[in-house]
Amino acid sequence: MPPGIETLPLWFDPAEMLIGGQWRAASETLPIEDPSTGFEIGALGRGRTGDIDAAVAAAEAARAGNWGRMTAAERGRILARIGQIVLARADVLARLEAADVGKPLKQARADALALARYMEFYGGAADKVMGETIPYLDGYTVYTLREPHGVTGHIVPWNYPMQIVGRSVGAALAMGNACVLKPAEEASVTALAFARIAMEAGLPPGALNVVTGRGEEAGAALASHPGVHHLSFTGSVAVGRLIQTAAAANVVPVTLELGGKSPQLVFADADLDAALPFLVNAGIQNAGQTCSAASRILVERSRYDEVVERMAERYRALKAGPAMADLDLGPLISARQRAVVEGFLAMAPEGSVAARGSIVADAPAGGHYVAPMLLAGPGPDHPLAREEIFGPAQVVIPFTDEAEALAIANGTDYGLVASVWTESGARQMRLAKGLRAGQVFLNNYGAGGGVELPFGGVGRSGHGREKGFEALYGFSALKTVAARHG
Ligand code: NAD
Repeated sequence: MPPGIETLPLWFDPAEMLIGGQWRAASETLPIEDPSTGFEIGALGRGRTGDIDAAVAAAEAARAGNWGRMTAAERGRILARIGQIVLARADVLARLEAADVGKPLKQARADALALARYMEFYGGAADKVMGETIPYLDGYTVYTLREPHGVTGHIVPWNYPMQIVGRSVGAALAMGNACVLKPAEEASVTALAFARIAMEAGLPPGALNVVTGRGEEAGAALASHPGVHHLSFTGSVAVGRLIQTAAAANVVPVTLELGGKSPQLVFADADLDAALPFLVNAGIQNAGQTCSAASRILVERSRYDEVVERMAERYRALKAGPAMADLDLGPLISARQRAVVEGFLAMAPEGSVAARGSIVADAPAGGHYVAPMLLAGPGPDHPLAREEIFGPAQVVIPFTDEAEALAIANGTDYGLVASVWTESGARQMRLAKGLRAGQVFLNNYGAGGGVELPFGGVGRSGHGREKGFEALYGFSALKTVAARHG
């Protein structure tokens, strides 16, 4: 028996989908693969257009029924309860995630804790979203209401299933929307576990529906469904374009989070001891399959060699292996993703590989492992320094002065996250304004998950904001009420 899901305390059948509070077996299934071994370890429901139709109808019914009538405080209480159960089951959820997506156990557990935090945060925030009163003409009272869109569609990728479900569905439910969730076909198990927990916590039937299946089938059906009033998508630029096109046809708002080529800028006066763990971890976390991965490290010339050598030292010690071994890196999600990443790495110019980590000797032959690679050499225009690799590789690039650093940092099509390492407060302020990104970190990177911090991109990184309070505004529509009373 290969290690994997069958050995786990799986308390549900992943071939069943949640529609209107009922668990329904799909008529067809897709294989669930353990990326650490390449073994098939289960069967996932292959939802189709009919399932999406039923899920959207169930969501609409929930809006018209109990869920739609519930007070914001009651919604918040249910979300908080979901958070408590997630917290209590964090270890089980982590093991499910590790088996399903190959994430090292510690990283999978961090995702489960983040999911719990999203539920706590949005549970607490549900009854704190307020409108305003607006001074207007004599004899008028004008105020605004924040109302749910109605039915929201959530299409989620495979890299951080629990975190992205938490931030997207959590905020939408807090505002009173009814959700239809389509998780990634490579990573649906914890989304189904989350839905089981939500039902257990008392979420009314139809408030959350989960249809698993392929992107071009269930995903496309959800994106184009005329009964969906808002779409939230995280994934590739190519599919993001399709989602926005589908949203345009129905004239509904869409939030797109499409990845990046995020830089960390290291100036000569930086505290390198403080910076180094952030420089490397933000590149290799989740084997580099992170939309906000810091895949470019820009370093002022006078300290370039030192940074490369200190990062290289860390890289040489990095180990990739099975998720359950809980090393620095697990496998990539699939053979396809490994082929894409290896294609990129093969483009490394001669002599530019500063260091490589290793794959442990007993890693199963069928797993999708890639040894992490540190590159010092490809210039800012090289594809390795411009395109999202979505694998464990970072490029270190030298710069001469602040103007050049900014030009290189802003020189890709993306703009998701950036960070600046410098002791100069004035430079911090200039760059925080000058960097083209949705988030800028000063003397840190990623801020420990940051459930509370609005997140999203500019340019090809997408538009709209999730996380934090801002997401609640995105998942609601503003209504202005103008009363003339004389
Ligand atoms: P993808 O964009 O194909 O998939 C993301 C989600 O979209 C999945 O749920 C998928 O089922 C769904 N989907 C796919 N085709 C669809 C369609 N036609 N209509 C509706 N939904 C559809 O991403 P991927 O293939 O899993 O990964 C490819 C690349 O995307 C990666 O190499 C990486 O560069 C990028 N990516 C980015 C993120 C991110 O966090 N921004 C996450 C995953 C992948």
